[in-house]
Amino acid sequence: MKYYILFGPPGAGKGTHAGAIAQKYNLKHISTGELLRAEIAAGTELGRQAKSLIDAGSLVPDAVVEGMIESAFDTIKGVDGFLLDGFPRNLAQAADLDKILEKRGEAVTAVVALMISDETIRTRIKGRAAVEGRADDANDETISNRIRTYHAQTEPLIEYYKAAGNFHEVNVDGGTIELNRAKVLDLMESFA
Ligand code: AMP
Repeated sequence: MKYYILFGPPGAGKGTHAGAIAQKYNLKHISTGELLRAEIAAGTELGRQAKSLIDAGSLVPDAVVEGMIESAFDTIKGVDGFLLDGFPRNLAQAADLDKILEKRGEAVTAVVALMISDETIRTRIKGRAAVEGRADDANDETISNRIRTYHAQTEPLIEYYKAAGNFHEVNVDGGTIELNRAKVLDLMESFA
């Protein structure tokens, strides 16, 4: 099985490009953010607890997202691998993912990082707010906190995966969606 991590700050286009990648390589796209939003929409206890943290632009507890990831690995069949989007988001999650995969005799295949500037994060998220109606996209303070959370907690993963030798970066700061998707698919092709 292949285990790809689609990495990048909020608004980099992970969700925008995940579908095409997953389809081309028969991968299951797992977005922890989408799974959490589904829990909120379904009105579950987990969703209720996650909502205030998501609305504040903070991370939900590691155990919550790791449980979702493990249960997806256990239950989803008929694919050649997984495309993780929005997970891992801090060093503890990255280390736990390594352990989860090790137990299964597997390892992270590659990290595909979509890189954009902080200024582009703000423009993209504001554009998306009008289209997708996400509460955490509509509030300036939440966006600022998500950017801070990214730099403080998620960005250190770049060094973690560079040290592991499987970090690959694509600059998607400018250009059209089509152009950026072609760049990402070109990189994916180099792993095939
Ligand atoms: P996303 O859709 O990836 O932008 O995620 C939306 C929000 O869900 C984030 O701002 C976090 O509050 C929460 N979230 C998503 N993935 C994770 C994760 N791996 N760890 C902790 N919180 C997460």
